[in-house]
Amino acid sequence: MTFNENANVGGNTARRRGAGVAVAGGGIAGIGAIAVLLFQLFTGTDISGIIPTGPQAGGAGESEIEQCQTGADANARDDCRLAAGSLALDQFWQTQAQGYRAPQLIIVDGSTPTQCGTASNQTGPFYCPPEETVYVDPTFFALLRQQFDATAGPLAQLYVLAHEYGHHVQYIAGSMDRYPDNGSGPDSNGVRRELQADCFAGAWVGSMTEQVDANGVRYLDPPTQQQIADAINAAQTVGDDHIQRESGGFVNPESWTHGSSAQRQQWFQQGYQNGVSACDTFGVPGGSL
Ligand SMILES: [Zn+2]
Repeated sequence: MTFNENANVGGNTARRRGAGVAVAGGGIAGIGAIAVLLFQLFTGTDISGIIPTGPQAGGAGESEIEQCQTGADANARDDCRLAAGSLALDQFWQTQAQGYRAPQLIIVDGSTPTQCGTASNQTGPFYCPPEETVYVDPTFFALLRQQFDATAGPLAQLYVLAHEYGHHVQYIAGSMDRYPDNGSGPDSNGVRRELQADCFAGAWVGSMTEQVDANGVRYLDPPTQQQIADAINAAQTVGDDHIQRESGGFVNPESWTHGSSAQRQQWFQQGYQNGVSACDTFGVPGGSL
């Protein structure tokens, strides 16, 4: 179990949007489409227009996540786990970043339009800066398991969420403006941004037992070694070199926008062991990331 069964996780502000359109089957043509979606995983860059999509959800219906009151609920349901994880993440960042404000979390059910393009399990989870909103379709984790042998267990899912929160922190801290896109490649700002988000996620996992509900009951149990390995496995799975190999391509560092599997694991562990202050990926000389 990940969440403390007795923790009160009610009162979160996560919302669900979409119309319950089934997209997991028909729209996914094969490994190529998955590789495309994984390339944009964590980036906030939407290129879903080039991927054949299923029926559009229309984007109308939006509702609060219901039946998400206790840690037991969060352990039982992917959507509730994400919503509850956002409570812990907000509390963590309030202690780490001055002037922190919570992003909105939208659980995508099917697909939904956003200011950053369509959100669905085909685009993967992403952060949309102009909306200060994290979009996650929980069915994405099943795709990760099917296509890339990732375990994508509960902590790995929370790692993905924490990575997106890392981009929110970067946005409100102004680092997206300070270090704008300067192309791809292993030393690019894009790769540094992704590795920093991995490091931030690791920092949170390293202190996830410190966040508590209104009664002082901690939200999350200490992660097990297996869960840590699972989260690192997720980081490894979405490394650019791994994706390039899985999709039948050769490994070409110049096209990297996210970092290699080894880099992503390394920076996750850096944050996990040493905290947020050890996550200055922009200060690391080129070639040493
Ligand atoms: Zn990212």
